[in-house]
Amino acid sequence: SREIRLASRPQGEPQPSNFELAEVDVPDPAEGEIAVRTTFMSVDPYMRGRMNEKSYAQVFEIGKPLFGGAVGEVVASGAEGFAPGDVVVHQQGWREYATMPANHARKVPAGGVPESAYLGVLGMTGLTAYVGLLDIAGLKDGDVVFVSGAAGAVGSLAGQIAKLKGHTVIGSAGSAEKVAHLVDDLGFDHAFNYNDGPVGKQLRAAAPDGIDVYFDNVGGEHLEAAIFSLHPFGRVALCGAISGYNAKELEPGPRNLHLCVGNRLTLRGFIISDHQDRFGDFAREVGAWVASGDVKFRETIVDGGIEAAPQAFMDLLRGANVGKMLVRFG
Ligand code: NDP
Repeated sequence: SREIRLASRPQGEPQPSNFELAEVDVPDPAEGEIAVRTTFMSVDPYMRGRMNEKSYAQVFEIGKPLFGGAVGEVVASGAEGFAPGDVVVHQQGWREYATMPANHARKVPAGGVPESAYLGVLGMTGLTAYVGLLDIAGLKDGDVVFVSGAAGAVGSLAGQIAKLKGHTVIGSAGSAEKVAHLVDDLGFDHAFNYNDGPVGKQLRAAAPDGIDVYFDNVGGEHLEAAIFSLHPFGRVALCGAISGYNAKELEPGPRNLHLCVGNRLTLRGFIISDHQDRFGDFAREVGAWVASGDVKFRETIVDGGIEAAPQAFMDLLRGANVGKMLVRFG
């Protein structure tokens, strides 16, 4: 079996030389363990942080395999309740086969939804959108909502949930094709390409009367623009700040933070692993929307298995994806 290891810590944008492909023996499962063959693995922006020496999530070690969300098929089981052929979600991505305690894996419900969805719209990124919008931003009737990174995994669901709950929703993304997808396929009221001009100006044009909630996936210029547009008592869910993930030097923060005082704004960060207690509510509500077709989910699936994973991750950081970025194993 093969796995991807961290060869060195990236300085700025990750390079192929930061990754290393290695051959390993995968042990047979002992009692209480299962062996799983990867079918899909997730690449996620937060993995960039884990490649640094410090991150909010457990950091990757040089010379050791990377890890992260994956789905796979049980090929051997020493654990009660798990049998070959079962499909599970687990955290041992970046490898072709993995042996793990069965309680580190969750069985995927049998049903009409493709298994890859449990890494995206019905998995970690979906829960992030749900919790960020409803609990962290405290969405309430009448809110006008702005979502950045809106064509990505988290942003596309956050915007659709707000639409399904009756809100006016504005999205930003990095290409004309993505902007068209937001409006034509996902039902956003307005969308703009942040590469077309200053974010503040484009946001004011899309929401001339201002906004109440900002779901921030991007940070930087987007956050500053949102602070200018937020109404008194507006709320920001600080979910991510991808515009700075590859920066070698810290960039200056929003220059208008003082407006948070007079406008009584709330800017609240969150990490989804603290909110697993919401998984049941999320799976019921969003699961029903996915089943009915009210929530649409795009996936950008890269074929080629383990060897294709580093490039897929690097491409994700450059915006090559629409919806959830995944690597498919043969
Ligand atoms: P996405 O599917 O949104 O993929 C990342 C996207 O970021 C790209 O498609 C690209 O789209 C955009 N991007 C890249 N560089 C820039 C830039 N300089 N400015 C603006 N946009 C940029 O990933 P996810 O949905 O998985 O993650 C979205 C955000 O949510 C990230 O910030 C991530 O770190 C965060 N997150 C936070 C969690 C938490 O617990 N707090 C959990 C999961 C995710 P484009 O073409 O539009 O530029």
